[in-house]
Amino acid sequence: VNRLRGIGAARGYALGPAFHFGSGDVRVEKHPISDIGHEQQRWEHARSTAAGQIQAFVDKARLELAADQAAIFEAHVQMLQDPELADRVRRNIAEGKWNAEYSVHEAFEHFAGMLESMANGYLKARAADVRDIAHRVLRILLDIDVSGAGRPNQPSILLARDITPSDTIMLDRHMVLAFCTVAGSETSHSAILARGLGIPAVVSAGPEILSISNGTELIIDGLKGEILVEPTPDLRQEYRARSAALRSAEEQALTHSRAPAVTRDGQRVHVVANIGSLEGAHTALEKGAEGVGLLRTEFLYMERETLPTEDEQFRTYSSILKVLGDLPVILRTCDIGGDKALPYLEQKHEANPFLGVRGLRLALQHPDKLLRPQLRAALRAGSGHHLRIMFPMVAALEEILQARRILDECMSDLARAQLPFADQVQVGIMVEVPSAALLADRLAPEVDFLSIGTNDLTQYTLAIDRTNPQLAYLASAFSPAVLRLIHTVIHEAHKVGKWVGVCGELAGDPLAIPILLGLGLDEFSMSPEAIPRAKQILRELDSQDCAPISQKVLEFASAAEVKSYVRSQLPELADV
Ligand code: PEP
Ligand code: MG
Repeated sequence: VNRLRGIGAARGYALGPAFHFGSGDVRVEKHPISDIGHEQQRWEHARSTAAGQIQAFVDKARLELAADQAAIFEAHVQMLQDPELADRVRRNIAEGKWNAEYSVHEAFEHFAGMLESMANGYLKARAADVRDIAHRVLRILLDIDVSGAGRPNQPSILLARDITPSDTIMLDRHMVLAFCTVAGSETSHSAILARGLGIPAVVSAGPEILSISNGTELIIDGLKGEILVEPTPDLRQEYRARSAALRSAEEQALTHSRAPAVTRDGQRVHVVANIGSLEGAHTALEKGAEGVGLLRTEFLYMERETLPTEDEQFRTYSSILKVLGDLPVILRTCDIGGDKALPYLEQKHEANPFLGVRGLRLALQHPDKLLRPQLRAALRAGSGHHLRIMFPMVAALEEILQARRILDECMSDLARAQLPFADQVQVGIMVEVPSAALLADRLAPEVDFLSIGTNDLTQYTLAIDRTNPQLAYLASAFSPAVLRLIHTVIHEAHKVGKWVGVCGELAGDPLAIPILLGLGLDEFSMSPEAIPRAKQILRELDSQDCAPISQKVLEFASAAEVKSYVRSQLPELADV
């Protein structure tokens, strides 16, 4: 048996024949035209057809997936409607007198190229999205039917160089057992969609997979990131059993998702959700969240031309808090900067935006524009609810004191104005920067709680840009360096009677749950989809058994050692 390795991007197992997937290559020819009106019509028609097709993905994603996954396609619809892009196509036809196909190709490539050259990792990655859209428009213009070509006619494991978001959502779920790509990263849009659709996926598996012939039997392990070529009957048997066990565990978890998570030794663990929209609030409740551990508010600021007003924010927060009733909700003030810039805020160019004016730093630079309106809106919306407020990207004590002073002023202003507001809010900080973790003993006394953002804490501890796919293989929150910082934060905060949550991806990772439980974590906050399983795992664990495991992993040198040790100590988690 030949074993190939990549990155496990969506868990689950698959056994079946290989199939080389092609999204139908398009060849674009350039030729002069005489009937400009006709070409303009062809372009307009292709554009509106494409917009209709993508809108259907939005609806499909909304029904079948989470809101953030639908947002991937909403952004595609918007890109297609971008006036500059459409103008460029029209000008190519009218002035360049080129055929619609070439005009589209030139304009979209121009935009993709522009994005690709940007320093900002998030925007860079969007070049793939622009090309995905161009591909769709071109196929419509060239009348290339994508439903048949390059698609399997029996349930198969798809192999491809790369898979675009629209390929992923269009794939017939019954024909796709798993997919495996040469390139890609865990955080690419396709990987996010695969996880949402429950399709096991291995990405970044290297060009070797392209030499596997169609029909070759494969096993895909989307957890370990393994591809087993021509497995023996014994191996097949083993994987079938694992796959069945995984399915029944998932069904079980969903049945009990609303019940509390109590460990074997009787410890009640709070499991809450990370959300970023009103839809997210509904999903959170459906999946059994006991509150919201992270309400990301950036969505209110993105994809618009002006700052959201206090009243607009008040309405949005109120609608979300209303869904959650009296459950605790941690609203995080906006975390703009890093890979999320606001065109209307005149942010100066920064060589290293992730090390720049981001999160609370930005908010404190614009207290009247950003921080006050948001805090006032949150406090007003929090009246009658269980609101908590948290500041992102804190690196130093001064920042906390400054933010708290502004919060106090907002409260006095609201009281003077006799507006109803939440006057009993717990105030916390995110621990995402190593300095904040190392100073936990000094920072904890100033706040009510600390919430560790392991996504950023990992990036800043390991010096790995979280949007850089080339380093994805090294960027693990299981690194003992990150775990030691988490340990420090929990230990120091508990000493002064403050509680600690984790709201980074790590909290929902089944293999991390015993470690975090053993370190004494109070609150686990994760994407709603991860909740049923996390609760199920917590119910199977004994915190007394987990404590020595957590202490032991702090002594290791690598993330790989940490993971294999946890697997060896808790064989019941071997499959997670
Ligand atoms: C984190 O950094 O872990 C976190 C939860 O915040 P975000 O992913 O929004 O940066
Ligand atoms: Mg963060």
